[in-house]
Amino acid sequence: MTSSFITVALFLCNVFYSCTENKSNNVPPQSTKSNFRQNDSTTMHKKIIKTDDEWEAQLSNEQFCITRKKGTERAFTGTYWNNHEQGVYSCVCCELPLFSSETKFESGSGWPSFFSPVAKENIKEQTDNMYGMSRIEILCNRCDAHLGHVFDDGPKPTGLRYCINSASLKFVKSSN
Ligand SMILES: [Zn+2]
Repeated sequence: MTSSFITVALFLCNVFYSCTENKSNNVPPQSTKSNFRQNDSTTMHKKIIKTDDEWEAQLSNEQFCITRKKGTERAFTGTYWNNHEQGVYSCVCCELPLFSSETKFESGSGWPSFFSPVAKENIKEQTDNMYGMSRIEILCNRCDAHLGHVFDDGPKPTGLRYCINSASLKFVKSSN
């Protein structure tokens, strides 16, 4: 009797805690109302989940190693670090638009660099502690493709530098 009461109490406690936690996570510190709405729906993109075999069949070796196995292309070797055409950079795996030429800048790093994504909700961030460094990894929020990392040494207005592998991107030139 007592143990089942405790189980129920714990269950209710967990439910309450999850709800409270979600609510507090949804409050963006410095966002406008419209940003709030975008950030609120983390499930807005229906997840694309495929097996390694399926991704391998769809991608080149390099694209597979980088996007699905968190690899990094060598600096100054990718297709887009020096691309100056106008257009949109989409996820090479699922074609979700990720970055625009309008936010691309010369970082000198040898990787395509942007100061912001096309939409915050298209990008997923997670802590990466590999190689003894603490960095923020950037992933596609729809298919979890590894894209690169974000650093806080970027230009105005955001001060951010999204350092992205060319192999994670598919450039679509704008028509005008
Ligand atoms: Zn994707």
